[in-house]
Amino acid sequence: MRVLVTGGLGYIGSHTCVELLAAGFDVVVLDNLANSALAALDRIEQIAQRSLAFIEGDIRDADLLDSLLDDYEIEAVIHFAGLKAVGEGQQQPMLYHDVNVAGSHVLLSAMERAGVNCFVFSSSATVYGAEADIPYVETSPVNPSNVYGNTKRIVEMMLADLCQPNDSDWSVAVLRYFNPIGAHPSGLIGEDPRGIPNNLMPYIAKVAVGELQELSVFGNDYSTRDGTGVRDYIHVVDLAKGHVEALKFLAKKQGIEVFNLGSGNGYSVLELINAFKDISGVAVPYKFAPRRAGDLPEFYAEPSKALQLMGWKTELDLNHMLADTWHWQKNNPKGYSAE
Ligand code: NAD
Ligand code: UDP
Repeated sequence: MRVLVTGGLGYIGSHTCVELLAAGFDVVVLDNLANSALAALDRIEQIAQRSLAFIEGDIRDADLLDSLLDDYEIEAVIHFAGLKAVGEGQQQPMLYHDVNVAGSHVLLSAMERAGVNCFVFSSSATVYGAEADIPYVETSPVNPSNVYGNTKRIVEMMLADLCQPNDSDWSVAVLRYFNPIGAHPSGLIGEDPRGIPNNLMPYIAKVAVGELQELSVFGNDYSTRDGTGVRDYIHVVDLAKGHVEALKFLAKKQGIEVFNLGSGNGYSVLELINAFKDISGVAVPYKFAPRRAGDLPEFYAEPSKALQLMGWKTELDLNHMLADTWHWQKNNPKGYSAE
């Protein structure tokens, strides 16, 4: 089966390409390099020992999509391409709606014209928002609290609408990711944020290699076990494998299905810092800082639906996540930009 992977050179996309190639899928990547480097392409091929097709372009380019879906005889699409920085989304809402919502509409419309009806969508646990009880279940209320989360929710609704007619032949998996961290165990691909990272794990990794001085821990007065925020961290390789299982699942199933992809375990910021020190031998200097606006104290997944329907669950624990993050960051202190 030949799969189009939009955003396939990004963090999660690159790891997913490796797993798709290993599982025997043919892969075509469409990426505009807005937040990725061409160097990732060679690295993916080096790990997989197989080649893939790469097209540099934008998901909002309908003509490009029409020819690409046809020329490469695409049978399924995994849609990673998009913008994901919560703060940037608050500052530039129209940009986020353009890329994430309008971009998805252009892509799905091109798929409809081409008769390609198998789709895996990168959604996020952020769609649940403050009102859902933890752990989050796929049926928990959704009420995102920021522009980025709204764009994910709108695309989820677009997909539900696409699948609702009785004669719809779409097969859609909405994957709500929890907090992906880690890197491929080869140390060849990993997360390579531009500028100062927004997220905890890449921030810790950059302090550990000396690129940043000190971590700010956002809030130590939450009603959690040590007062710092708790999240469900998931190894990016486990997450990538979830996409392979989703494609296999969709081959046998029509309609739309929503899955949490998380481990079901929560770790606090301080637990992550301490476990990182045990694994790497590097004590990351930190200070307590005020809470970050919009942050929830604690959330984690109830992940059993993915196990029941797709046979997928996480296999790699926090130590693997931290060891692989450190391996990648140590080998590539400047990410891909050294190439
Ligand atoms: P990433 O930024 O590393 O990857 C996104 C890729 O899409 C990049 O390679 C970028 O160049 C490309 N891209 C952006 N706009 C594009 C456009 N208009 N046309 C073509 N390519 C474009 O992000 P990631 O962490 O790999 O996330 C992948 C997807 O998963 C995103 O949709 C994101 O919202 C979602 N997600 C990520 C997380 C996370 O914590 N990383 C959590 C939940 C959901
Ligand atoms: N966090 C922190 N310092 C940072 C970045 C994040 O203390 O520099 C905290 C944040 O408040 C949250 C946790 O780490 O409790 C995970 O944050 P991240 O941005 O990685 O994920 P998200 O909040 O989007 O789930």
